[in-house]
Amino acid sequence: MHDISNLLIETLKEAPRPIALHEPSFDSGDISYVSDCVQSGWVSSVGSYVDRFELELSQYIGAHAIPVVNGTAALHLALVIAGVKAGDEVFVPDLTFVATANAVKYCHAIPHFVEAEKNTYGIDPDKLDAYIQTLSRIPKYLIVTHIFGNSAQIDKLCSVCQKHNITLIEDAAESLGSWVDNKHTGTFGKISALSFNGNKIITTGGGGAVITTDPTLAQRAKHLSTTAKTNSPYTHRHDEIGYNYRMPNLNAALGCSQLKKLELYLAQKKKLYQIYADIFLNRSEIEFITPMKNTISNFWLCNILVKDEITRNIIIDELAKEKIFCRGLWAPISSLPMYKNCPKMPTPIVEDLCSRTISLPSSPSLTQFLVS
Ligand SMILES: *Cc1c(COP(=O)(O)O)cnc(C)c1O
Repeated sequence: MHDISNLLIETLKEAPRPIALHEPSFDSGDISYVSDCVQSGWVSSVGSYVDRFELELSQYIGAHAIPVVNGTAALHLALVIAGVKAGDEVFVPDLTFVATANAVKYCHAIPHFVEAEKNTYGIDPDKLDAYIQTLSRIPKYLIVTHIFGNSAQIDKLCSVCQKHNITLIEDAAESLGSWVDNKHTGTFGKISALSFNGNKIITTGGGGAVITTDPTLAQRAKHLSTTAKTNSPYTHRHDEIGYNYRMPNLNAALGCSQLKKLELYLAQKKKLYQIYADIFLNRSEIEFITPMKNTISNFWLCNILVKDEITRNIIIDELAKEKIFCRGLWAPISSLPMYKNCPKMPTPIVEDLCSRTISLPSSPSLTQFLVS
């Protein structure tokens, strides 16, 4: 058995099996909110819970937050509203969830993949800047993903965007509760996306939100997400081709209840991170992934970087036999069949990180069982 496998088995020995990579926690409060919503009869895209979730989420983030059906739809809508058109090129991290690139394709635009840096797993601002200088035509948009809830080097990426007149969009799907200089992730770009999928820090079953500090864009996000319906007491009118992307009230009921527990989950995740850090920081054979100093992370997923791909596979297999489910990272997006002909800069760091990273079990409920 590999040393790292043994360490994890020891650390997690009190936790009931199977141990998932990440699972949501629910209590009777969640059930009563959902039950109340069902009893009210308002389960679809209109209702008091979805309005309340919109309000409370906006207050928490300090920007407009428009709830939608999932994070992918939020990304799609964000790109549409940012003005991404057919044939436009959009810089996309080569290291992100596939939905980031898919959303670009939904707009019939072209993803242009860029390199990550090892500290944050986010886009490398210096390499990007240097790369842009070599291009004859500069893409008009850049999507930054905050991976594992750790903020990318957002200040530097904002500067690169300003310098080259690029519109910044953030994929903040993983980073609810993550802040940089008292600003929530997702509020640096023109418009951004959050996700409340079952594996994220809070969940609405399926769900997401479009984030923006601009009231006009927020209004437009709400309009487009509700089939571009205009207010008329007598007839149903729609003034453009909208989307049926509004979050259903039923999902928002769960969201209202989950949002109340966000601070609790954040505290549990921080504790989990600290326990893993005690075990894995300063071990010679691996690296433990830490957020940047000037940021507050939500510690959504804890990760280690092992020696090589073979070691990664051995550890994941050994732990799976013990019903402890860790996971490797995504394949680089540019290596997927539907994206392999897209423009890209060299991404050796992405390839390296994708082959050696292991995500550790990170459910908030695990905290109570960990042996430090
Ligand atoms: C989860 C996730 C999404 C998509 O969210 P869904 O709600 O599952 O559609 C997009 N980008 C990243 C980085 C994610 O982790």
